[in-house]
Amino acid sequence: MSKDRLDVIRKTIPPHVELIAVSKTKSNAEILEIYNAGQRHFGENKVQEMVDKYEALPKDIHWHLIGHLQTNKVKYIAEFVHLIHAIDSLKLLAEINKQAQKHERVIPCLLQFHIAKEDTKFGLSWSEAKEMLDSEDFKNLKHIRIDGIMGMATFTNDLDQVRSEFKSLKNYFDRLKTAYFTHPSFNTISMGMSGDYQLAIEEGSTMVRVGSSIFGNR
Ligand SMILES: *Cc1c(COP(=O)(O)O)cnc(C)c1O
Repeated sequence: MSKDRLDVIRKTIPPHVELIAVSKTKSNAEILEIYNAGQRHFGENKVQEMVDKYEALPKDIHWHLIGHLQTNKVKYIAEFVHLIHAIDSLKLLAEINKQAQKHERVIPCLLQFHIAKEDTKFGLSWSEAKEMLDSEDFKNLKHIRIDGIMGMATFTNDLDQVRSEFKSLKNYFDRLKTAYFTHPSFNTISMGMSGDYQLAIEEGSTMVRVGSSIFGNR
């Protein structure tokens, strides 16, 4: 039962770390099982799937968009999304800002950094992030708020490598907090999945995105 696996995972996560149950490809019934066990934060990586689930499921669920987001799809989630994890361009942020304004809200976002060795994974480099944050266009965005950063480690059994990638993400966070984001809500480091969330927590994660360890394999 997913509920039992959820209980086991919860026991291993300290209270300052938010558990996001990654429910992509899972049915509404499977989601409700752990909703009924008290889970309220869920993560999806596809816009259409997230919209369908939002419409069908209880409205007090906090929906996290954790995957790559195309600009032309922002409008479908702007009204309800709780946190967008994978910001990798100013163009995307500008579109989120525009759609958030239409709904008279501020949408919390995380900057995604490229920390893995693989070049298939999305995300900003340090210099790309700096260029974006230094631009006037960025400073004029009043309907988005950067609450932290997100990253994905290389898919490997080499735990030393995974650990060092998590360390570099934590280092980016600390540097950004000093140089750019002094507001208290800049407090989120979204790192760690089923295979590596414990390591991620050791390295400073405040938000873990766990799918298969809760719901079983996809
Ligand atoms: C699917 C996914 C996860 C969860 O992966 P599991 O290995 O099933 O825990 C976490 N983060 C992102 C961005 C994902 O796409």
